[in-house]
Amino acid sequence: MTTDPSLSACAILTVDLGAVVANWTQLRDRVAPAECSAVVKADAYGLGVARVVPALAAAGCRTFVVAQFEEALAVRRALEPVAPDAQAEVQVFSLGGLPPGHEADFPANRILPVLNHLGEIAAWRAFAAARGEVLPAVIHIDTGMNRLGLGPDELDALAGHLEWLEGIDVRYWMTHLACADEFDNPMTGEQLERFRAALARLPKAKASFANSSGIFHGKDHHFDLARPGCALYGVNPTPHLSNPMRDTIRLDARLLQVRNCAVPMTVGYGAAHKVTGPARIATIGVGYADGYLRALGGRGHVFVDGVAAPIVGRISMDLITIDVTSLPESAAHAGRVVELIGPSRPVDRVAAEGGTIGYEILTSLGRRYHRVYQSE
Ligand SMILES: *Cc1c(COP(=O)(O)O)cnc(C)c1O
Repeated sequence: MTTDPSLSACAILTVDLGAVVANWTQLRDRVAPAECSAVVKADAYGLGVARVVPALAAAGCRTFVVAQFEEALAVRRALEPVAPDAQAEVQVFSLGGLPPGHEADFPANRILPVLNHLGEIAAWRAFAAARGEVLPAVIHIDTGMNRLGLGPDELDALAGHLEWLEGIDVRYWMTHLACADEFDNPMTGEQLERFRAALARLPKAKASFANSSGIFHGKDHHFDLARPGCALYGVNPTPHLSNPMRDTIRLDARLLQVRNCAVPMTVGYGAAHKVTGPARIATIGVGYADGYLRALGGRGHVFVDGVAAPIVGRISMDLITIDVTSLPESAAHAGRVVELIGPSRPVDRVAAEGGTIGYEILTSLGRRYHRVYQSE
Protein backbone atom coordinates (compact mmCIF):
# COMPACT_ATOMS: atom_id res chain seq x y z
CA MET A 1 0.00 0.00 0.00
CA THR A 2 1.32 3.41 -0.90
CA THR A 3 0.99 6.50 1.24
CA ASP A 4 2.80 8.71 -1.26
CA PRO A 5 0.19 11.36 -2.09
CA SER A 6 1.94 12.18 -5.37
CA LEU A 7 0.90 8.71 -6.54
CA SER A 8 -2.62 8.70 -5.13
CA ALA A 9 -3.59 12.33 -5.88
CA CYS A 10 -5.77 12.91 -8.93
CA ALA A 11 -3.84 16.05 -9.80
CA ILE A 12 -0.49 17.63 -9.05
CA LEU A 13 0.01 21.37 -8.72
CA THR A 14 3.63 22.35 -9.28
CA VAL A 15 4.64 25.77 -7.97
CA ASP A 16 7.91 27.17 -9.32
CA LEU A 17 9.23 29.33 -6.47
CA GLY A 18 12.28 30.15 -8.58
CA ALA A 19 9.97 31.76 -11.14
CA VAL A 20 8.15 33.74 -8.42
CA VAL A 21 11.51 35.02 -7.17
CA ALA A 22 12.66 35.82 -10.73
CA ASN A 23 9.45 37.77 -11.30
CA TRP A 24 9.94 39.74 -8.08
CA THR A 25 13.60 40.43 -8.97
CA GLN A 26 12.59 41.70 -12.41
CA LEU A 27 10.06 44.11 -10.86
CA ARG A 28 12.50 45.15 -8.11
CA ASP A 29 15.01 46.14 -10.80
CA ARG A 30 12.33 47.91 -12.82
CA VAL A 31 11.21 50.11 -9.90
CA ALA A 32 14.65 50.74 -8.33
CA PRO A 33 15.52 53.01 -6.54
CA ALA A 34 11.93 52.69 -5.28
CA GLU A 35 11.32 49.69 -3.04
CA CYS A 36 9.40 46.66 -4.32
CA SER A 37 7.03 44.91 -1.94
CA ALA A 38 5.18 41.66 -2.55
CA VAL A 39 1.41 41.44 -2.28
CA VAL A 40 0.75 38.01 -0.76
CA LYS A 41 -2.93 38.29 0.12
CA ALA A 42 -5.26 35.32 -0.45
CA ASP A 43 -2.50 32.82 0.40
CA ALA A 44 -0.09 34.43 -2.06
CA TYR A 45 -2.76 34.38 -4.78
CA GLY A 46 -3.33 30.69 -4.10
CA LEU A 47 0.31 29.59 -4.41
CA GLY A 48 0.87 29.21 -0.65
CA VAL A 49 2.05 32.00 1.62
CA ALA A 50 4.07 29.63 3.81
CA ARG A 51 6.38 28.85 0.87
CA VAL A 52 6.25 32.08 -1.14
CA VAL A 53 7.10 34.46 1.74
CA PRO A 54 10.36 32.78 2.87
CA ALA A 55 11.49 32.49 -0.77
CA LEU A 56 10.90 36.20 -1.40
CA ALA A 57 12.40 37.23 1.95
CA ALA A 58 15.54 35.25 1.07
CA ALA A 59 15.69 37.16 -2.23
CA GLY A 60 15.61 40.45 -0.32
CA CYS A 61 11.92 41.40 -0.20
CA ARG A 62 11.30 43.40 2.98
CA THR A 63 7.66 44.50 2.66
CA PHE A 64 4.69 42.17 2.42
CA VAL A 65 1.12 43.28 1.83
CA VAL A 66 -2.02 41.33 2.74
CA ALA A 67 -5.74 42.09 2.89
CA GLN A 68 -6.63 40.84 6.37
CA PHE A 69 -5.11 40.77 9.82
CA GLU A 70 -5.11 36.95 10.00
CA GLU A 71 -3.17 36.86 6.74
CA ALA A 72 -0.59 39.23 8.23
CA LEU A 73 -0.14 36.78 11.13
CA ALA A 74 0.40 34.00 8.57
CA VAL A 75 3.15 36.11 6.94
CA ARG A 76 4.84 36.58 10.32
CA ARG A 77 4.62 32.81 10.96
CA ALA A 78 6.07 32.10 7.52
CA LEU A 79 8.99 34.39 8.35
CA GLU A 80 9.95 32.46 11.51
CA PRO A 81 12.60 30.34 9.73
CA VAL A 82 14.07 33.49 8.12
CA ALA A 83 17.20 35.01 9.71
CA PRO A 84 16.22 37.15 12.74
CA ASP A 85 17.88 40.33 11.46
CA ALA A 86 16.02 40.01 8.14
CA GLN A 87 12.79 39.31 10.04
CA ALA A 88 13.24 42.46 12.09
CA GLU A 89 13.58 44.53 8.90
CA VAL A 90 10.40 43.16 7.38
CA GLN A 91 7.23 45.23 7.39
CA VAL A 92 3.84 43.63 6.90
CA PHE A 93 0.77 45.66 6.13
CA SER A 94 -2.82 44.72 6.27
CA LEU A 95 -4.98 46.62 3.78
CA GLY A 96 -8.29 45.87 5.45
CA GLY A 97 -7.96 48.50 8.15
CA LEU A 98 -8.26 48.40 11.89
CA PRO A 99 -10.81 45.91 13.25
CA PRO A 100 -12.49 47.68 16.19
CA GLY A 101 -10.95 46.77 19.54
CA HIS A 102 -7.96 44.99 17.99
CA GLU A 103 -5.52 47.91 17.95
CA ALA A 104 -3.11 46.22 20.37
CA ASP A 105 -2.79 43.16 18.13
CA PHE A 106 -0.93 45.22 15.52
CA PRO A 107 2.14 46.30 17.51
CA ALA A 108 2.10 42.99 19.40
CA ASN A 109 2.64 41.18 16.10
CA ARG A 110 4.64 43.89 14.28
CA ILE A 111 1.89 44.46 11.74
CA LEU A 112 1.14 47.87 10.25
CA PRO A 113 -2.50 48.79 9.85
CA VAL A 114 -3.61 50.57 6.71
CA LEU A 115 -5.95 53.28 8.00
CA ASN A 116 -8.75 53.71 5.50
CA HIS A 117 -11.01 56.38 6.98
CA LEU A 118 -11.02 59.15 9.57
CA GLY A 119 -12.60 56.87 12.17
CA GLU A 120 -9.60 54.54 11.94
CA ILE A 121 -7.17 57.45 12.09
CA ALA A 122 -8.92 58.67 15.26
CA ALA A 123 -8.87 55.19 16.80
CA TRP A 124 -5.16 54.74 16.03
CA ARG A 125 -4.32 58.18 17.41
CA ALA A 126 -6.29 57.50 20.61
CA PHE A 127 -4.60 54.13 21.00
CA ALA A 128 -1.13 55.69 20.52
CA ALA A 129 -1.96 58.43 23.03
CA ALA A 130 -3.17 55.87 25.60
CA ARG A 131 0.14 54.00 25.20
CA GLY A 132 2.15 57.19 25.21
CA GLU A 133 3.86 56.10 21.99
CA VAL A 134 4.15 57.13 18.37
CA LEU A 135 2.80 54.23 16.32
CA PRO A 136 3.39 53.47 12.65
CA ALA A 137 0.63 53.13 10.08
CA VAL A 138 -0.06 53.41 6.37
CA ILE A 139 -2.83 55.81 5.32
CA HIS A 140 -4.93 55.08 2.25
CA ILE A 141 -6.20 57.95 0.11
CA ASP A 142 -8.94 57.09 -2.36
CA THR A 143 -8.29 58.57 -5.79
CA GLY A 144 -11.08 56.88 -7.70
CA MET A 145 -11.86 53.35 -6.53
CA ASN A 146 -14.54 54.31 -4.02
CA ARG A 147 -13.96 51.19 -1.97
CA LEU A 148 -11.51 52.00 0.79
CA GLY A 149 -9.45 55.04 1.67
CA LEU A 150 -10.09 58.68 2.52
CA GLY A 151 -12.54 60.19 0.07
CA PRO A 152 -12.27 63.85 -1.07
CA ASP A 153 -14.29 65.20 1.89
CA GLU A 154 -12.25 63.24 4.40
CA LEU A 155 -9.03 64.38 2.74
CA ASP A 156 -10.16 68.01 2.99
CA ALA A 157 -11.00 67.53 6.66
CA LEU A 158 -7.65 65.90 7.42
CA ALA A 159 -5.67 68.53 5.50
CA GLY A 160 -7.39 71.16 7.67
CA HIS A 161 -6.68 69.25 10.91
CA LEU A 162 -3.18 67.85 10.65
CA GLU A 163 -3.19 67.52 14.45
CA TRP A 164 -5.36 64.43 13.87
CA LEU A 165 -2.10 62.72 12.83
CA GLU A 166 -0.37 63.36 16.15
CA GLY A 167 1.07 60.16 17.55
CA ILE A 168 0.93 58.50 14.12
CA ASP A 169 4.15 57.76 12.25
CA VAL A 170 2.87 57.78 8.65
CA ARG A 171 5.09 55.22 6.94
CA TYR A 172 3.36 55.63 3.58
CA TRP A 173 0.53 57.50 1.97
CA MET A 174 -0.96 55.03 -0.49
CA THR A 175 -3.61 54.84 -3.16
CA HIS A 176 -4.79 52.12 -5.52
CA LEU A 177 -5.36 52.17 -9.28
CA ALA A 178 -8.66 51.23 -10.87
CA CYS A 179 -7.66 50.71 -14.53
CA ALA A 180 -3.90 50.21 -14.58
CA ASP A 181 -4.15 47.17 -16.88
CA GLU A 182 -5.84 49.29 -19.59
CA PHE A 183 -2.87 51.26 -20.85
CA ASP A 184 -4.91 53.69 -22.93
CA ASN A 185 -7.37 54.46 -20.14
CA PRO A 186 -7.00 58.09 -18.93
CA MET A 187 -8.11 57.06 -15.42
CA THR A 188 -4.54 56.16 -14.35
CA GLY A 189 -3.27 59.64 -15.20
CA GLU A 190 -6.21 61.21 -13.39
CA GLN A 191 -5.49 59.15 -10.29
CA LEU A 192 -1.82 60.15 -10.49
CA GLU A 193 -2.81 63.83 -10.52
CA ARG A 194 -5.22 63.39 -7.61
CA PHE A 195 -2.62 61.51 -5.58
CA ARG A 196 0.03 64.19 -6.19
CA ALA A 197 -2.43 66.91 -5.25
CA ALA A 198 -3.29 65.05 -2.04
CA LEU A 199 0.37 64.53 -1.11
CA ALA A 200 1.02 68.25 -1.54
CA ARG A 201 -1.52 68.98 1.21
CA LEU A 202 -0.24 66.40 3.70
CA PRO A 203 2.87 66.02 5.86
CA LYS A 204 5.80 64.61 3.93
CA ALA A 205 6.13 60.84 4.07
CA LYS A 206 6.88 58.03 1.65
CA ALA A 207 4.21 57.17 -0.92
CA SER A 208 2.98 54.00 -2.59
CA PHE A 209 0.99 53.99 -5.83
CA ALA A 210 1.51 51.18 -8.33
CA ASN A 211 0.19 47.64 -8.45
CA SER A 212 1.67 45.19 -11.01
CA SER A 213 0.32 46.96 -14.09
CA GLY A 214 0.96 50.39 -12.57
CA ILE A 215 4.69 49.58 -12.48
CA PHE A 216 4.68 49.32 -16.30
CA HIS A 217 3.34 52.87 -16.70
CA GLY A 218 6.81 54.25 -16.01
CA LYS A 219 9.05 55.82 -13.41
CA ASP A 220 6.71 58.64 -12.37
CA HIS A 221 4.25 55.95 -11.22
CA HIS A 222 6.72 54.23 -8.87
CA PHE A 223 6.95 56.69 -5.94
CA ASP A 224 8.71 55.05 -2.96
CA LEU A 225 7.10 51.62 -2.81
CA ALA A 226 5.50 49.49 -5.52
CA ARG A 227 2.90 46.84 -4.63
CA PRO A 228 2.88 44.09 -7.26
CA GLY A 229 0.71 41.03 -6.78
CA CYS A 230 -0.47 39.20 -9.88
CA ALA A 231 2.74 39.73 -11.89
CA LEU A 232 4.75 37.89 -9.23
CA TYR A 233 2.61 34.84 -9.93
CA GLY A 234 2.82 35.03 -13.73
CA VAL A 235 -0.34 36.91 -14.68
CA ASN A 236 0.41 39.31 -17.53
CA PRO A 237 0.50 42.89 -16.16
CA THR A 238 0.63 44.29 -19.73
CA PRO A 239 -2.29 42.53 -21.47
CA HIS A 240 -1.74 44.53 -24.71
CA LEU A 241 1.80 43.09 -24.99
CA SER A 242 3.28 39.62 -24.60
CA ASN A 243 3.75 38.55 -21.00
CA PRO A 244 7.04 39.83 -19.52
CA MET A 245 6.63 37.56 -16.48
CA ARG A 246 7.46 33.88 -16.06
CA ASP A 247 4.72 31.32 -15.53
CA THR A 248 4.80 30.03 -11.96
CA ILE A 249 2.40 27.10 -11.83
CA ARG A 250 1.44 24.02 -13.72
CA LEU A 251 -1.44 21.67 -13.07
CA ASP A 252 -1.24 18.09 -14.28
CA ALA A 253 -3.78 15.33 -13.77
CA ARG A 254 -4.13 11.66 -14.60
CA LEU A 255 -6.79 10.29 -16.90
CA LEU A 256 -8.90 8.17 -14.56
CA GLN A 257 -10.80 6.35 -17.31
CA VAL A 258 -11.08 6.42 -21.08
CA ARG A 259 -14.17 5.05 -22.79
CA ASN A 260 -15.58 4.54 -26.24
CA CYS A 261 -19.02 6.09 -26.53
CA ALA A 262 -21.69 4.56 -28.69
CA VAL A 263 -23.86 6.97 -30.67
CA PRO A 264 -26.20 8.59 -29.99
CA MET A 265 -25.08 9.21 -26.40
CA THR A 266 -24.65 12.06 -23.98
CA VAL A 267 -21.91 12.96 -21.50
CA GLY A 268 -22.29 14.17 -17.94
CA TYR A 269 -24.85 16.13 -15.93
CA GLY A 270 -27.76 17.58 -17.79
CA ALA A 271 -26.77 15.37 -20.74
CA ALA A 272 -25.24 18.65 -21.87
CA HIS A 273 -22.87 17.15 -24.44
CA LYS A 274 -24.27 15.04 -27.27
CA VAL A 275 -21.96 12.57 -28.95
CA THR A 276 -22.84 12.56 -32.63
CA GLY A 277 -20.17 10.25 -34.01
CA PRO A 278 -18.00 7.49 -32.59
CA ALA A 279 -16.09 9.14 -29.76
CA ARG A 280 -13.65 8.48 -26.99
CA ILE A 281 -14.19 10.35 -23.76
CA ALA A 282 -11.60 10.59 -20.97
CA THR A 283 -12.38 11.52 -17.38
CA ILE A 284 -10.07 13.56 -15.10
CA GLY A 285 -10.31 13.88 -11.30
CA VAL A 286 -10.46 17.67 -11.12
CA GLY A 287 -13.69 19.63 -10.73
CA TYR A 288 -15.18 22.87 -9.59
CA ALA A 289 -14.51 21.91 -5.97
CA ASP A 290 -10.84 22.24 -6.94
CA GLY A 291 -11.38 25.69 -8.37
CA TYR A 292 -11.54 24.42 -11.93
CA LEU A 293 -14.32 26.81 -12.83
CA ARG A 294 -17.67 25.42 -13.92
CA ALA A 295 -17.70 28.08 -16.64
CA LEU A 296 -14.96 26.08 -18.43
CA GLY A 297 -17.50 23.35 -19.27
CA GLY A 298 -17.75 23.05 -23.06
CA ARG A 299 -15.13 25.80 -23.47
CA GLY A 300 -11.82 24.84 -21.87
CA HIS A 301 -9.04 22.62 -23.17
CA VAL A 302 -6.73 20.02 -21.67
CA PHE A 303 -3.46 19.09 -23.35
CA VAL A 304 -2.26 15.58 -24.06
CA ASP A 305 1.32 15.62 -25.36
CA GLY A 306 0.74 19.27 -26.28
CA VAL A 307 -2.36 18.42 -28.35
CA ALA A 308 -5.58 20.17 -27.30
CA ALA A 309 -8.48 17.99 -26.18
CA PRO A 310 -11.71 19.93 -25.65
CA ILE A 311 -13.59 19.75 -22.38
CA VAL A 312 -17.04 18.37 -23.18
CA GLY A 313 -20.16 18.51 -21.05
CA ARG A 314 -20.45 20.16 -17.69
CA ILE A 315 -17.70 20.39 -15.10
CA SER A 316 -18.73 18.31 -12.07
CA MET A 317 -17.67 18.86 -8.48
CA ASP A 318 -14.85 16.30 -8.78
CA LEU A 319 -14.58 15.39 -12.45
CA ILE A 320 -14.27 16.75 -15.94
CA THR A 321 -14.62 14.95 -19.25
CA ILE A 322 -12.58 15.60 -22.38
CA ASP A 323 -12.95 14.39 -25.95
CA VAL A 324 -9.85 12.46 -27.01
CA THR A 325 -11.31 11.00 -30.20
CA SER A 326 -8.65 12.64 -32.37
CA LEU A 327 -5.78 11.27 -30.28
CA PRO A 328 -4.24 7.81 -30.75
CA GLU A 329 -5.08 5.27 -28.04
CA SER A 330 -1.40 5.13 -27.13
CA ALA A 331 -1.58 8.83 -26.19
CA ALA A 332 -4.86 8.86 -24.26
CA HIS A 333 -5.21 5.95 -21.90
CA ALA A 334 -6.09 5.55 -18.22
CA GLY A 335 -3.19 6.63 -16.02
CA ARG A 336 -1.84 9.05 -18.61
CA VAL A 337 -0.84 12.45 -17.19
CA VAL A 338 -2.27 15.47 -19.02
CA GLU A 339 -1.82 19.25 -18.67
CA LEU A 340 -4.63 21.49 -17.42
CA ILE A 341 -2.52 24.59 -16.75
CA GLY A 342 1.05 24.98 -17.99
CA PRO A 343 3.11 25.87 -21.05
CA SER A 344 0.31 24.85 -23.45
CA ARG A 345 -2.38 26.68 -21.46
CA PRO A 346 -1.02 29.41 -19.17
CA VAL A 347 -3.23 30.83 -16.45
CA ASP A 348 -4.36 33.85 -18.50
CA ARG A 349 -5.55 31.60 -21.36
CA VAL A 350 -7.48 29.33 -19.00
CA ALA A 351 -9.03 32.45 -17.50
CA ALA A 352 -10.06 33.79 -20.91
CA GLU A 353 -11.73 30.48 -21.78
CA GLY A 354 -13.59 30.57 -18.46
CA GLY A 355 -14.69 34.18 -18.94
CA THR A 356 -12.62 35.46 -16.03
CA ILE A 357 -9.17 36.82 -15.14
CA GLY A 358 -5.96 35.02 -14.16
CA TYR A 359 -6.32 36.30 -10.58
CA GLU A 360 -9.49 34.26 -10.11
CA ILE A 361 -7.96 31.09 -11.55
CA LEU A 362 -4.98 31.39 -9.18
CA THR A 363 -6.90 32.29 -6.04
CA SER A 364 -9.34 29.43 -6.67
CA LEU A 365 -6.63 26.73 -6.91
CA GLY A 366 -7.90 23.81 -4.88
CA ARG A 367 -6.77 22.28 -1.64
CA ARG A 368 -7.03 18.70 -2.92
CA TYR A 369 -4.15 18.98 -5.34
CA HIS A 370 -0.91 17.39 -4.33
CA ARG A 371 1.46 20.35 -4.23
CA VAL A 372 5.07 20.24 -5.29
CA TYR A 373 7.28 23.30 -4.70
CA GLN A 374 10.34 23.73 -6.92
CA SER A 375 13.04 26.19 -5.84
CA GLU A 376 15.15 26.19 -9.05
C1 LIG B 1 -4.35 43.42 -4.56
C2 LIG B 1 -3.74 44.74 -4.42
C3 LIG B 1 -2.51 45.03 -5.03
C4 LIG B 1 -1.84 44.09 -6.02
O1 LIG B 1 -2.51 44.20 -7.24
P1 LIG B 1 -2.06 43.38 -8.56
O2 LIG B 1 -2.96 43.89 -9.62
O3 LIG B 1 -2.31 41.94 -8.24
O4 LIG B 1 -0.63 43.68 -8.77
C5 LIG B 1 -1.91 46.24 -4.75
N1 LIG B 1 -2.50 47.13 -3.93
C6 LIG B 1 -3.70 46.91 -3.36
C7 LIG B 1 -4.32 47.95 -2.49
C8 LIG B 1 -4.36 45.72 -3.59
O5 LIG B 1 -5.57 45.50 -3.04
